[in-house]
Amino acid sequence: EASAKVIDGKSIAKEIREEIAAEISRMKESIGIVPGLAVILVGERKDSATYVRNKKKACESVCIKSYEVHLAEDSTEREVLEHISSFNNDPSVHGILVQLPLPSHMNEQNVLNAVCTEKDVDGFSPLNIGRLAMRDREPLFVPCTPKGCIELLHRCGITIKGKRAVVIGRSNIVGMPAALLLQREDATVTIVHSRTKNPEEITREADIVISAVGQPNMVRGSWIKPGAVVIDVGINPVEDAKSPRGYRLVGDVCYEEASKIASAITPVPGGVGPMTIAMLLSNTLAAAKRAHKFE
Ligand code: NDP
Repeated sequence: EASAKVIDGKSIAKEIREEIAAEISRMKESIGIVPGLAVILVGERKDSATYVRNKKKACESVCIKSYEVHLAEDSTEREVLEHISSFNNDPSVHGILVQLPLPSHMNEQNVLNAVCTEKDVDGFSPLNIGRLAMRDREPLFVPCTPKGCIELLHRCGITIKGKRAVVIGRSNIVGMPAALLLQREDATVTIVHSRTKNPEEITREADIVISAVGQPNMVRGSWIKPGAVVIDVGINPVEDAKSPRGYRLVGDVCYEEASKIASAITPVPGGVGPMTIAMLLSNTLAAAKRAHKFE
């Protein structure tokens, strides 16, 4: 029975972190500066707290200085904006990240717009997304999760140019920028979303599938063209009495089935997740290099 190559995001991300650490130590020795990343977390969502903790740990592992602000659930948008403004003006902070989602009484657009473009390491500002979409323009930063997906393809030697790609999901943070990036890499891209008719049939045409939906095991083996490459962004908790936490994480793709049909596939966890954080570190390093004209 055929079996796909497992794309080991965890070890590829480790390799990238090592490259970043080496670059940061070169920077430190030569100009006496290390990159700084500010993270703003509002509220008490457990998943957000975990993401922030992991980002902080990853920063420490490569000698990026992290600055964390944790605000209460009932704090005001104004307080968030004030912190952003002070980080915008702090020369030791090169990247600013606002952990999403924000509490519902805050306007996400106002908050994200407040982060200055040069420090927008999440790449969510309209200016960065606009440049990503336009020919012959270069965004300062590309959103971390889709950038991590493309980096996985590159580092596994998978050609994107000329391929048929299907992105399932069109969110601002994953699906949409993933589709733009694939198109920049000269793939022919189709986007499947919740109103798409015959998603299975369309997905089966793809040489490369990137799924960012948030539905456990939605993409079945029958959706995958034999030999296709499958990048599963989904991180979905499902009940599991056998796990000490009572749940485990699965992707959007039914791994059992798809791994018998695809030529390569990312596992969940251990696929795209670690790459997202590695790309955040990479964007923060790039911001610091740009700020200090360090090459
Ligand atoms: P959103 O909920 O913002 O977007 C989901 C997208 O999937 C929407 O575009 C929606 O379509 C589409 N969709 C929903 N249901 C279906 C369906 N039945 N068929 C086809 N399309 C559907 O999610 P995110 O993009 O933020 O995240 C997606 C997943 O990726 C989640 O599991 C999340 O946890 C994970 N994630 C993982 C990261 C990582 O580092 N690995 C980082 C960020 C997210 P429509 O637009 O029509 O509503």
